[in-house]
Amino acid sequence: MSRVYNFSAGPAVLPEEVLKELADEMMDYQGTGMGVMEMSHRSAAFQKILDDAEQDLRDLLQIPDNYKVLFLQGGAHLQFAMIPMNLMKNKVADYIVTGQWAKRAHAEAQKYGKANKIATSEDQTFSYIPDCSDLPISPDADYVYICENNTIYGTKFKELPNTKGKDLVADVSSCFLSEPMDVSKYALIYGGVQKNIGPAGMVIAIVREDLITEDVLPGTPTMMSYKTHADAGSLYNTPNAYCIYVCGKVFKWLKAMGGLEVMKQRNEEKAAILYDFLDSSKLFKGTVAKKDRSLMNVPFVTGDKDLDAKFVKEATAAGLVNLKGHRSVGGMRASIYNAMPKAGVEALVAFMKKFEEENS
Ligand SMILES: *Cc1c(COP(=O)(O)O)cnc(C)c1O
Repeated sequence: MSRVYNFSAGPAVLPEEVLKELADEMMDYQGTGMGVMEMSHRSAAFQKILDDAEQDLRDLLQIPDNYKVLFLQGGAHLQFAMIPMNLMKNKVADYIVTGQWAKRAHAEAQKYGKANKIATSEDQTFSYIPDCSDLPISPDADYVYICENNTIYGTKFKELPNTKGKDLVADVSSCFLSEPMDVSKYALIYGGVQKNIGPAGMVIAIVREDLITEDVLPGTPTMMSYKTHADAGSLYNTPNAYCIYVCGKVFKWLKAMGGLEVMKQRNEEKAAILYDFLDSSKLFKGTVAKKDRSLMNVPFVTGDKDLDAKFVKEATAAGLVNLKGHRSVGGMRASIYNAMPKAGVEALVAFMKKFEEENS
């Protein structure tokens, strides 16, 4: 067996310790005589997996008691619609558009009400986070929406916007559990787990209880009402049971690592190795405003398309894979999520140094 350093933006690298446990338990989960994939979601064994996963997530993020944790399907994209359907009581919401995913969320919300774009960084290909200290928040806005870490462009909100008292909704798909966060500052947090937590096919939504009501937009499908899933403890229908199990394993791994403060330090250390090199390199450069740099997704370019392609090809051959930038921006992108070891980032930088010497 030989494993590569996988810099994919998602689905992405998982901790090897977790993958080994999954393999060990594939045929017989803790004496049940069956694997978790084969298990009824109504069984006591699975209920314990689900309860432990929720509790471990609550412990990691110190989620206050007045928030529900929901394990949902349909990817982050379904939340683009589910959020307005459940939260747009006045049919008005304000969107801060800092990338492709916020743009999609904003476009989707326009189907259900008045979705205002109150700030954007599209003028400079989303390479920075706009000043959000004094935005024209709509007096009747039901919520203010952000994408907290912009996976494609590599920017992150280092400070939350001033919502002037309005509820804040955040897509945290690509920074989920990368550092501590104060859940009480948000009304709703959600993220697809395939970036920093588990396999594809699930979203975790952390929703303040008062927002979970029967008062949703007319025509909202049963499956798209938060109340349906909250009332049923994420077991209204068959959930993505195996994915919940894997996420639960990752939560336990994060706890064993020392929790989110420790992950933050590790992630800062890893990102600094790469950013410091980019800042000193004559060939490579980062594409993002320094103050807004993400710890998770690091886009960079040489400035020459052919050289970029050569780099990606040679890096792949050297076991450093999935470094091609998103199709909408080109260049390169290294996603260095929680499960990417420091050695992986060091190997990447060593390879970049060698490439720079050979190509200048
Ligand atoms: C990947 C990603 C999405 C889209 O996720 P799907 O699960 O494919 O719908 C949305 N938002 C962010 C921030 C992402 O990184």
